[in-house]
Amino acid sequence: MPGKSPRIRKTVDRFSPYKQPLRTVSDDEVLDFLDEVAAVSPTHDDWKGGDGVAVGRMALVANDDQRREVNGIGDTHGCHSCLTRVESDPNQPWIGDHCPPTSLSDAARKALGVAEERYDGSVQLRPQCDSCSVTQASLVVRVNSEVSQGLKPNLNAFGEVLVGKKAGRHTRGVNATSAKVSPAQGDAIQKLGQTYGCHSCKAKFPKDYYHADHNPPVCYTYSHVIAILEYAKQNIEGCEDIVITQNFKLKPQCPRCSHEQGGRMAGLNASAEDLARRLRLPVY
Ligand SMILES: [Zn+2]
Ligand SMILES: [Zn+2]
Repeated sequence: MPGKSPRIRKTVDRFSPYKQPLRTVSDDEVLDFLDEVAAVSPTHDDWKGGDGVAVGRMALVANDDQRREVNGIGDTHGCHSCLTRVESDPNQPWIGDHCPPTSLSDAARKALGVAEERYDGSVQLRPQCDSCSVTQASLVVRVNSEVSQGLKPNLNAFGEVLVGKKAGRHTRGVNATSAKVSPAQGDAIQKLGQTYGCHSCKAKFPKDYYHADHNPPVCYTYSHVIAILEYAKQNIEGCEDIVITQNFKLKPQCPRCSHEQGGRMAGLNASAEDLARRLRLPVY
């Protein structure tokens, strides 16, 4: 029968799922990945803040002194990624503040006469600056503790604003739908913050500090990324000079850029794992 001829069988074999050639990875794909790594945290061409503050390879998390030094550079030169000055930038991330605060205990809510934690329009989300958010967090701990000891919460006028007993500087907000802030609510809060400022203190700018951003980015310490860099160095023409750095510096970065970069790093980590696996690279 014709179907049994060796020729036909060969054709059938080639299309068997077990006989397909292994999927190969092109040099272009590796080069694209290297571009992606290089684009994680480039320093703006017009940034004049120098090389940054040295940080040890084995102690990459910035300590207080390094953070202070980085913020000093930021105060003079701004964000190394986008050049902004955080202290006068209304479009830094605003916090979506739950009013009344989520961590107020039920007993404290009762004692203060503020709304229960119900997401039927009783709890609002309003834009808040970092400074008020920090003050609020410690205040809520104190109020919960005072109420649990049977004491009357000791609050000044600003404290009453922070616990949601009194309206603050404005009441622009959206209904909270859970203890979290959804991405859509976050966008709405960001617009309200830019336009109306902090609801508690009316600050026009939500942030007053820079993050200490690693340069090159810490993704150069990820084992999968290092394996791919090594692979490119040894196998792809033009990549011989790749340096797998041990020297990291810290540069000031605004919270907005830092947040965006965090998203890119997470994506990059996932694609590095996938690429290293398909290249069959040993990862240590
Ligand atoms: Zn920035
Ligand atoms: Zn504020």
